[in-house]
Amino acid sequence: MSPLQDWRPSSWRSRAALQLPSYPDVEALRQTEQRLCGLPSLIFPGEALQLRERLADVSRGKSFLLQGGDCAESFDEFGQEPVESTFRVILQMAVVLTYAAACPVVKVGRIAGQFAKPRSSEMEQQEGESLPSYRGDIINGSAFTADARQPDPARLLGAYSHSATTLNLLRALAQGGFADLHEVHRWTADFVRRSPQGERFEELADRITQSLAFMEACGFDAARAPQLHAVEFYTSHEALHLHYEEALTRFSERNGAWYGGSAHMLWLGERTRQLDGAHVEYLRGIGNPIGVKLGPSASADDLLRLMDVLDPGGDPGRLVLITRMGSDKVADRLPPLLRAVHRAGRRPVWCCDPMHGNTVTSSNGYKTRDFERILQELQGFFAAHGQEGTYPGGLHFEMTGQDVTECRGGAQALTDEGLAARYRSACDPRLNGSTARRAWSWLFGSPTC
Ligand code: PEP
Ligand code: MN
Repeated sequence: MSPLQDWRPSSWRSRAALQLPSYPDVEALRQTEQRLCGLPSLIFPGEALQLRERLADVSRGKSFLLQGGDCAESFDEFGQEPVESTFRVILQMAVVLTYAAACPVVKVGRIAGQFAKPRSSEMEQQEGESLPSYRGDIINGSAFTADARQPDPARLLGAYSHSATTLNLLRALAQGGFADLHEVHRWTADFVRRSPQGERFEELADRITQSLAFMEACGFDAARAPQLHAVEFYTSHEALHLHYEEALTRFSERNGAWYGGSAHMLWLGERTRQLDGAHVEYLRGIGNPIGVKLGPSASADDLLRLMDVLDPGGDPGRLVLITRMGSDKVADRLPPLLRAVHRAGRRPVWCCDPMHGNTVTSSNGYKTRDFERILQELQGFFAAHGQEGTYPGGLHFEMTGQDVTECRGGAQALTDEGLAARYRSACDPRLNGSTARRAWSWLFGSPTC
């Protein structure tokens, strides 16, 4: 990839930037940006390029993408347990598909940088009082006070350090022995092991352990096979906060291109994908793989124009189109996009986010999602691809390994009343570990659930 002549990390500033806060202290923002510019990139360009290669395989139908994590990470809920448990669920889901369908899974977390949230409303009302909306911990605080809701540039450094710490832990988990296939039994947490679902995962783990023993008995030297001892795990988040993204953009002399240094993959949100907008301008210039969220209002023409801007060369692995139509619209809205893109000779990765088109408010005021509607959208996604002859290449979930109660239905058949027990999300409702695994095995008919 050669650098674009008419692009700079800052060229987005001449475009309309939606969803960005307006900072009262502009000088403090500028100083924070300068500090970020001097800090190390969180990822290496070579890793972003490797992810592009992995995604190119997905676009050719040779592997499958699993992307998942919190709607928004939080500075307060931070610690080893949340990161480790989400990582563990992603590993479990991936190994099921790898074993049951012999299909490699590209594992990408919505993690280590997912701190900025687009909001549908500038202001939030509570009991007659109106305050600026919470926009994610990188911008302001979630407490409903005027002080917390003030955008604070110091939070950019907080987001950087939380991301760096999380990434450090993820790298250790992926490469330091935890993800070794010989340890597959240890991936089942104690509370899961006691459930029927956990028992079925244990059966699968037994079979994997037996297969490894068989291969080793045949003379295969497992100790020398790095693929068995470590996994590749990539990070991603929505590239919403452009001041932050710009400050972490680095030029790679080796590759002759600019890279976003905040995550391996960055995505463009449904609310910020205007062709002439700042977010598209920023993303078109960096060499990372780019995701694009597409809701029911996306037209085939808009999409093709967007693809021309973000991926003029049609490079395999560059674009992941993440559709989030809603269970009631997917059958209608997705096929025309698949058809137009295919006819244009393009082969992006198509990924389904069954979460964001299916958000509702429960009778007792919680933002929630029905597991049934999530499954319906997944079904609609696979059906549309079957009908158009395109490859349904991946899934994007808002999920956590923790035992939260945020979506209705699912493994615990949660009702409105049940949501209150452990509803922890400050933004969108997540699938918990058992429900995420259930959705996965429902799709792939795996032996685990
Ligand atoms: C999200 O992924 O959290 C999100 C806000 O998605 P979308 O841009 O698809 O609405
Ligand atoms: Mn969300």
